[in-house]
Amino acid sequence: MAKRASGDVSEVRILSNGLKNTGMNRKLDVLGRIVIPAEIRKSLDLKEGGVLDISLEEDRIILTPRQDSCVFCGSRSELKEYSGRMICSSCIVGLDSLTA
Ligand SMILES: [Zn+2]
Repeated sequence: MAKRASGDVSEVRILSNGLKNTGMNRKLDVLGRIVIPAEIRKSLDLKEGGVLDISLEEDRIILTPRQDSCVFCGSRSELKEYSGRMICSSCIVGLDSLTA
């Protein structure tokens, strides 16, 4: 298992407003970037190249995974829906080759 970043704890608490407090925190780097913890990326099926929409709610920053991109490569062109997920034509061809 990869070394955990400092600030990670395994306990998730449900706050009175329904939000889940993961107990995790991250420092912004010099360019204002953060790393989303691997556990969260895995649970939300976030992949490299995926797009997160950024919105503000008072003093909160809300990151929402954009669903209209290919779940495999993040492409936003020539998408088709399968089982509630979007897949691009290139990845459909790639998947098709697995069954040939
Ligand atoms: Zn794709």
